[in-house]
Amino acid sequence: MAGLEDLYREIILDHYRAPRNRGELEVPPAHRVEGFNPLCGDEVVLYLDVDSGTGTVRDIKIAGQGCSISQASTSMMSAAVKGTPVDEARALIRAFKALMSIHESKLEGAEETDLSADLEGVRLGDLEALQGVVKFPVRIKCATLAWNVLQQGLDESAAGADA
Ligand code: ZN
Repeated sequence: MAGLEDLYREIILDHYRAPRNRGELEVPPAHRVEGFNPLCGDEVVLYLDVDSGTGTVRDIKIAGQGCSISQASTSMMSAAVKGTPVDEARALIRAFKALMSIHESKLEGAEETDLSADLEGVRLGDLEALQGVVKFPVRIKCATLAWNVLQQGLDESAAGADA
């Protein structure tokens, strides 16, 4: 088990040291969304370019700063959703939040089956490296910040496309 934790730590450090998709996109056509985690001081600025014609995340860039967990999670999120259909990106958001809430729900004695439905059929890949974060509840908001910002970005992009 220690070996797996070492691997997870390596993946997180790799994303923290060499974050993927750093930069900015022109607004518009891209949407700019930002989020803040006051508990830790993490800041995520997301530039999201959704192709409304094909319904895919055409491009994504990340700015902002914060702790290693928040920055690694943001980097992993950007790599995971770039080029994917919006539906898949939303499924990833649900799956990642389920991953982060499993520990809490265990403590509360809730049924795990509620969460496995969200995780089913979704390939989390490197994102599984962040599951160790649930052992430190105060850090969960660091890990989920990027995903909340992504959700907001997708919602706003969809609203913009309808207008
Ligand atoms: Zn943080």
